[in-house]
Amino acid sequence: MWDYDDACIKCSLCVSVCPVAEKDPKFPGPKVLGPDWWRKREELGSALQPHPFVDDCTFCQLCEDACPVGVPVAHLIAEHKKHQMKPRVRRWRDFVLSHPQWIARAPQLTRLPRRWGKPWGLSMRTKWPKMHRPSKVARFRKSQPSSLPRVGLFADCFSQTFDGSVLDAASKLLHLWGFEAVILPDAASCCGAAAYAAGNPELGAKIAGDTKSHFEMAHTHDISMLVTLNATCDSTLREEWPRYWHLSLPYQVIPFTEFALSYAPSSFWQILQAGDGLDLPYFIHTTCRSRVSRGSGTMEELGRRARWTAKPVALACCGAAGSYAFKQEHEELARKMGKINLPPGRLAVDSGTCALHLEDMTGLAARHPAYWLYESYQLAIGQHDRKVDANHAIK
Ligand code: SF4
Ligand code: SF4
Repeated sequence: MWDYDDACIKCSLCVSVCPVAEKDPKFPGPKVLGPDWWRKREELGSALQPHPFVDDCTFCQLCEDACPVGVPVAHLIAEHKKHQMKPRVRRWRDFVLSHPQWIARAPQLTRLPRRWGKPWGLSMRTKWPKMHRPSKVARFRKSQPSSLPRVGLFADCFSQTFDGSVLDAASKLLHLWGFEAVILPDAASCCGAAAYAAGNPELGAKIAGDTKSHFEMAHTHDISMLVTLNATCDSTLREEWPRYWHLSLPYQVIPFTEFALSYAPSSFWQILQAGDGLDLPYFIHTTCRSRVSRGSGTMEELGRRARWTAKPVALACCGAAGSYAFKQEHEELARKMGKINLPPGRLAVDSGTCALHLEDMTGLAARHPAYWLYESYQLAIGQHDRKVDANHAIK
């Protein structure tokens, strides 16, 4: 039972920042779906029906971030979602999508003809990910004896299977900066975010508990930091795990971008700054969960240090929201939210699923900043080596 403490002062600040309310006039907004609904629920009990549009909330948490009195608006809405009566097929679909680690372990599912998904309520338009596993090098490192300080690299279910080049790039960069990257956990695991956002917090807690056991089995007593590559997982591990599920990890959880700013040596940035770089601007999309959990500006700072032309993109939430865009009833809204016209360039996005969706919506290559950083480094090193060769040739 949700312990509902009615602190809402009805200021509607939460409504003013809600990206769904902005795009969809039918959506009643966070105040109605969160504190108002729960207040009525206290009065009327189970006679109060769930709101018919409650499932349209993406769980971006921007409303919660805006609330001046700390009402956990998005979490109230997630609990409200539990009371929906969905058709059996959609309940089954939501259950499967709440286990992205299953899809990661059987990625062939994403190659099935799109029309097969229609009867199951899956989107016919949202771009599906393609299998791209990390290289053997990235997987191998976890078992190699090393004298370097070790950091955990959280291989979320999406990165493990569909974003292998990002996992590779992050692993190689950590090595370049003098760390041994230990890929954790062993199996494709989920932090529980997808189930929570879909309105099944208990299932989210169970999935998260299983993932925690995978961490415990990994015997990583010499690791003090866990580097994350997905803003939603990062936020879930730091916020939902201890606060709502009473789970904790014996590591400091830190996103790759912040780790880079704190631990990449100055020599690394000097190499990037000495290179000619890529001549296209990098548009930066800091995902909603990252902004709520960590604030803005980290990727922009990363861009400045790497000498990129880094321009923030004006998007509150791109509409991908974990499995949200993959559901038939949300695909149009997800497309409206992610649609933005940008000139030629590249997009740096701190979440694999958001990058996938934004690549589709903008037509630009969208990747995690770890990928772009490693690409910039390789270019800069190539240029440096060619200059050295040219100097030798002159002599
Ligand atoms: S979590 Fe996001 S989409 Fe849901 S009500 Fe709050 S601001 Fe709107
Ligand atoms: S939930 Fe918070 S932001 Fe929303 S109306 Fe109530 S007090 Fe204002």
